Amino acid sequence: MINPDSSRTQLIPVPAFSDNYIWLLCKGGHAVVVDPGASEPIEKLLGQYHLTLDAILLTHHHPDHVGGVKALKALTNAKVYGPLGETLPVCDEGLKEDDNITLENLGLTLSILDIPGHTAGHIAYFGYLDTGKPVVFCGDTLFAAGCGRLFEGTPAQMVNSLAKLKVLPLETLVCCAHEYTLANLRWALQVEPGNTALQQRWQTAQRQRSEGLPTLPSTIGLELETNPFCRPLQQSVSDAAAAYAGEPLTSAVAVFASLREWKNNF
Ligand code: ZN
Ligand code: FE
Repeated sequence: MINPDSSRTQLIPVPAFSDNYIWLLCKGGHAVVVDPGASEPIEKLLGQYHLTLDAILLTHHHPDHVGGVKALKALTNAKVYGPLGETLPVCDEGLKEDDNITLENLGLTLSILDIPGHTAGHIAYFGYLDTGKPVVFCGDTLFAAGCGRLFEGTPAQMVNSLAKLKVLPLETLVCCAHEYTLANLRWALQVEPGNTALQQRWQTAQRQRSEGLPTLPSTIGLELETNPFCRPLQQSVSDAAAAYAGEPLTSAVAVFASLREWKNNF
């Protein structure tokens, strides 16, 4: 899974629980993890590949994202970054919109986006890997063909948060924290049965899952083409959302709210 001789940063989704991914970045014997809901799978890799954990990045406070932080901190003394506005088990530096952090051993600088909606203080980390690829760690806000439930925010907040992600470069690697892709695509195909990019994505994702492969990372370009939550102003999407709501919907926020309700009940 990890090539210890690689001279470029490797980006690896480490499975945890039933459907979480803990993203691991590593290069030259150094590693960084994002949202370690459990410590064991990371401890195992650190030992197996003799990696030094430099930092732990947190996107929001939910237990399946922060459950392993205390144990990893105790074991490695890695620096813990997280959202300034949330209560976390451990946090050495709280971050908010437009803050930057530099992970020196990976040659990676990440800038922070405030993306509330799923939780009130949810943040994302965006930057460019040494491969030249842009990458975003967006936790439970943007999923492949879906988005996070609104536990602590409003549809308007989520639309605004997704808008910040949608303007990232099209080739940005979208590193979400759950393997929800097949279930999301099944629903997205109800919303837009005629979307050929979506049909194609369904075939690809089914093959990946049947081979035991992750469907992630996605890209911003693919989400713009296939994720109903990123396409509220597309006629096909707004028509379907209005049909579900049983009334005309006149704004992106109203369409989004109907889509979210639909997905919650799907
Ligand atoms: Zn969450
Ligand atoms: Fe989660």
